[in-house]
Amino acid sequence: MNPTGDPETDERMEQVYAAVIDRNPGEPEFHQAVHEVLSSIGPVLRKHPELAEHKIIERICEPERQIIFRVPWADDAGEIQINRGYRVEYNSALGPYKGGLRFHPSVNLSIVKFLGFEQTFKNALTMMPIGGGKGGANFDPKGRSDAEIMRFCQSFMTELYRHLGEYTDVPAGDIGVGTREIGYLFGQYKRITNRYESGVLTGKGITWGGALVRPEATGYGAAFFAQEMLQARGDSLDGKTCVVSGSGNVAIYAIEKLHQLGGIAIACSDSQGYVVDETGIDLETLKEIKLDARGRIRDYVERRPSAKFVEGGCIWDVPCQVAAPCATQNELDGAAAATLVRNGVVAVVEGANMPATPDAVASFLEHKVAFGPGKAANAGGVATSALEMQQNASRDSWSFEYTEQRLAQIMAGIHEACYETAEEYGSPGNYVVGANIAGFLRVSQAMTALGLI
Ligand code: GLU
Repeated sequence: MNPTGDPETDERMEQVYAAVIDRNPGEPEFHQAVHEVLSSIGPVLRKHPELAEHKIIERICEPERQIIFRVPWADDAGEIQINRGYRVEYNSALGPYKGGLRFHPSVNLSIVKFLGFEQTFKNALTMMPIGGGKGGANFDPKGRSDAEIMRFCQSFMTELYRHLGEYTDVPAGDIGVGTREIGYLFGQYKRITNRYESGVLTGKGITWGGALVRPEATGYGAAFFAQEMLQARGDSLDGKTCVVSGSGNVAIYAIEKLHQLGGIAIACSDSQGYVVDETGIDLETLKEIKLDARGRIRDYVERRPSAKFVEGGCIWDVPCQVAAPCATQNELDGAAAATLVRNGVVAVVEGANMPATPDAVASFLEHKVAFGPGKAANAGGVATSALEMQQNASRDSWSFEYTEQRLAQIMAGIHEACYETAEEYGSPGNYVVGANIAGFLRVSQAMTALGLI
């Protein structure tokens, strides 16, 4: 933990963190996310001793509710499969629990708790009335037929529905959960409850209650955040070489917006390797492969002979000025950060949740790279989910232009809050400190106002 200069505060933080480790054994990702926030907020405690009195830190480190359930389903061969489902309803001081569902074999309680913890502060930064939550299952959608995906979603929702509601808990997508899965989940919720409750899920299809810009929002938002960080330094994205890891929704639309803002994204990846296209990633080809055909990134080089595919390897070896990790947690380590710094990176923007390891973050901060942490930089997705909830509540639907404009304003607002908070608390230019403190203050003020809950 970073020393604050006040031994009493330092000791208290160490104690809280030790208790978190003790109470949550075997959850390294959760410990990592908590450690990062606790390391930033020492100065807040010195300024606001009442937060310690109310035991806000201790309360914030404990999720309000953790739900774990069995998800039984039958595959196409008639074989019975069992998965484990989760929903961590992390904090509802600012609004109903809000956050995505992740379907991936790596999902476990540690991952869902770290994501729910991060989500709470991220959602606070959007200034929208949403609490934090996250869920998912250790289900691997890869290679599964459409009918299997549907049966899995139906079984998952058959348990989860009782915990949801537009004023209670509003899931959305994340890795492995897109519009198709939200459709099956929503259909099952509607069937069980006999309610067309549009506001219970976001990321819905445009023709049945979804919002324009939601599919693009996380990636667009990350690109907007990169632009804001560069502008704050009197620089811009214009002509900058960008490397974006991943090739899902977040990566694809980060690339699209980076291109529109003047950058040139030359590389992206999936779990098998990465492609480099020096002329700039061709978005139409990428969308056809990944969105339409649900294929692999290696297929890209068959259609674009100018590009090369590197099997395995590390995408961060590709020299660039802007790096956007948009794949998954801890995908960019200290060694990769050192390579990026050596190659002259000027901005790093986290499109995924916690993709940079603590070592990597430390290295970027030490070398004065503009570093946008996920809870600020990728908040555009959930913010647009909140805009979807607004549209559902008023039975309205907004144009693409208007919604995108709202998204851009929200991202500019988040950037400003992080920038100013970092300055106020003595760490100018440090968006990690800015995001953690600004998010924490908003959540803790609401928690204090609502009494001991
Ligand atoms: N899964 C996304 C995130 O990490 C979006 C959540 C939402 O839209 O509720 O923020």
